[in-house]
Amino acid sequence: MIDPWGSSIIDYDKLTQQFGIKAFGDVVGEIEDPSKLMKRGIIFGQRDYKKITDALKNGDDFATMTGMMPSGKMHIGHKMVVDQLKWYQQKGSDIFLSIADMEAYAARGISSVKSRELALEEYIINYIALGLDVEADNFHIYLQSQNDDVKDLAYTIGRKVTFSQMRSIYGFDNSTNVAHIYTPLLQVADILHPQLEKYGGPKSVIVPVGPDQDPHIRLTRDLASKFNDEYGFIEPSATFHRFMTGLTGDKMSSSDPKSAIYLTDSIKDATKKAKSAKTGGRESLKEQKELGGEPDKCSIYELLVYHLVDSDDELKDLKQRCLAGEVLCGECKNCAAELLADMLEDVHSKTDEARKIAEKLL
Ligand code: SF4
Repeated sequence: MIDPWGSSIIDYDKLTQQFGIKAFGDVVGEIEDPSKLMKRGIIFGQRDYKKITDALKNGDDFATMTGMMPSGKMHIGHKMVVDQLKWYQQKGSDIFLSIADMEAYAARGISSVKSRELALEEYIINYIALGLDVEADNFHIYLQSQNDDVKDLAYTIGRKVTFSQMRSIYGFDNSTNVAHIYTPLLQVADILHPQLEKYGGPKSVIVPVGPDQDPHIRLTRDLASKFNDEYGFIEPSATFHRFMTGLTGDKMSSSDPKSAIYLTDSIKDATKKAKSAKTGGRESLKEQKELGGEPDKCSIYELLVYHLVDSDDELKDLKQRCLAGEVLCGECKNCAAELLADMLEDVHSKTDEARKIAEKLL
């Protein structure tokens, strides 16, 4: 069982085998100009993505749905969601962004006021500074607690789920509060509501998520088929992206400042973090030159692949030189720190303007 509110490290192979997630590599060739997250295998899995490749090819309407449960600081790993939203927005997709304040209250005890504040300060402002066009006609954002369509739909679809199913999907037990048991229905309603008549009717919907959210995807697809007669719902598609390894070698976490680079980190702090990150380097210079480094175990290389280097050739060259022991970690860290500083400077320079836009949104 996967716990969407837990924090376990994911075994991607086991996940695909056990839960039937298909490889994204099977469909990437169908996409005209895939994003770097797609090409580099960072998006590793999918459910039913053919609907989206078809919509892209045929120019059909489709929607992209994502949500956030505001409960901490935004780190560079979260940037992957923004990159995906931007890509779909450029492809003409409607973008729906739910701020899951009801879920944050039920699962973490965070008030709606605090959720709104966290969502604005830590996420939306950075989303805008990173280039998401929130003023576009095709962008829709809402707090769950203020969206009656979502709340009404959550209530309606609850008619076709039993407590026994919820328990087997999510592991709820006698100590789980009832509001928390209800929150997956809100997530399902978040994902399905772009298909209501008011929002243009049934259409393909893509939900780009981390694999920890797959229980919600499975439940949504099941309920979409059960309500197909009534609403015409089409089962939504999903993609799954890898999580970033933290700078300490464990999972990157909002609550562990040493593991994460926050978008709000000063350039000085971010540089310091990059320079003390765990790499795939060897114990000594002599060993590194003889054996080469291990880029696939290196958090610096990951930073470059996920966020900092656009050129595939440049990355390929670095990887080869690392494996051959021709580049040392100090040099590599300095280069990553400089690129990171450039990226953060750009984001920070846009923050004030982004705040003005964000405040008008909610
Ligand atoms: Fe990582 Fe660069 Fe060291 Fe290779 S040389 S292990 S890519 S930091």
